[in-house]
Amino acid sequence: MEVRRTVPVKLDADSDDAVLLEDTVDTFLWSAQYVADHAFEGEYVTTSKTTLDDETYDDVREATDGFNGGLVQAARNKAAEACKSVVAKWKQGKKASKPYFTSPHVVYDHRTATFHDDYVSLATTSDRIEADYVLPDENRDTPHAEYLSSDEYETTGAELHYTNGNWMLHIHCKKDVEPDTLDQATTENGTVLGVDLGVNNLAVASTGTFWTGDEFDHWRREYEKRRGDLQECGTRWAHENMQAVGRKEEGRFKMTLHRISNELVAEARDNMCSVIAFEDLTDIRDRTGASWGHKWAFNRLYEYVEYKAAEYGINVEQVDPENTSRRCSHCGFTHPDNRESGSFECQKCDYENHADYNAAKNIGLRYLRRNQTGDDGGAPLGVRLNSGTLNVNGGYEPLASDEARTGVHAESHP
Ligand SMILES: [Zn+2]
Repeated sequence: MEVRRTVPVKLDADSDDAVLLEDTVDTFLWSAQYVADHAFEGEYVTTSKTTLDDETYDDVREATDGFNGGLVQAARNKAAEACKSVVAKWKQGKKASKPYFTSPHVVYDHRTATFHDDYVSLATTSDRIEADYVLPDENRDTPHAEYLSSDEYETTGAELHYTNGNWMLHIHCKKDVEPDTLDQATTENGTVLGVDLGVNNLAVASTGTFWTGDEFDHWRREYEKRRGDLQECGTRWAHENMQAVGRKEEGRFKMTLHRISNELVAEARDNMCSVIAFEDLTDIRDRTGASWGHKWAFNRLYEYVEYKAAEYGINVEQVDPENTSRRCSHCGFTHPDNRESGSFECQKCDYENHADYNAAKNIGLRYLRRNQTGDDGGAPLGVRLNSGTLNVNGGYEPLASDEARTGVHAESHP
């Protein structure tokens, strides 16, 4: 089996290179969109890569003035996969519409990119360009040292992204392992850290670590009170003062959220998790009765965790939140009566635990199930609990070496 990792590396691109990369991104997205549009013509959506290739390759090459053949095919694969996932959603009775490719990126493989120790050569709409990696000074203990410059891992491809004014290359690496046991495979592949976000506990991890919302609530109440006082004055001066109070309080919220996000990423690293799974945040106010302030905090927390985790090659994902608080993480029985405010008690198997902790486990399990059908040999195999891992069938594997840690929400698994 394979172990896979993705390492984000910033590229040092001069202004000439940047112009070519921008043009390449535009052409790549245009090509993917052309294929998706074509796939949606006619009575059925075409998802076969071969058919789409036959039907669009020459047209795309012609329309793009001979765009690199490997990049045209990568764009076609991207479109085919996006169309496939739309059809899969339809089959589950969910709503989905034709994919639109807007986020600036390009998919590279070994035909279109050459990966060297400290620079990469990339195909563009014109000649190839060479861009240096911007690597951390201290090379120990970084994913760059561990995966990128390691002889054990080979690079398989990369995605070029343009974010916050930077050209980032997310380089995919893999190595082959022959695991003796599932335990070793789990260790090598990493596990999922499930995280539940909520009003009473801002975050709860499947390892049983809780981050309370007390500090956040304190600042929020303070802010609302002072805002109320100032509003009564009603003067222009009071209005400006109110905005200043807002900025100050927002700074405090952000500091708290930075601390929690650092601790969440540390929790994932300590437990060798390769993925941190959150629930989809879109409708979280309807589900949890959270205020706008809370939703703001959840979104910031997610963003902070996402970019901090990327530095360690840990992926951050969102999963479908449906029933994660009503479903029993032990037997799968789903019922509204299972949950009563803070506590969870399964009506079927009598499993009892903290409601948010039960939800965190479900979020991790949902990520595993979603990825079980994929062909990604590097996908995690278990949800990390405080003293072991839970696999997709609900099987529990205790950690051989590690004792259950103190200070966390321990669980003696039935
Ligand atoms: Zn149950």
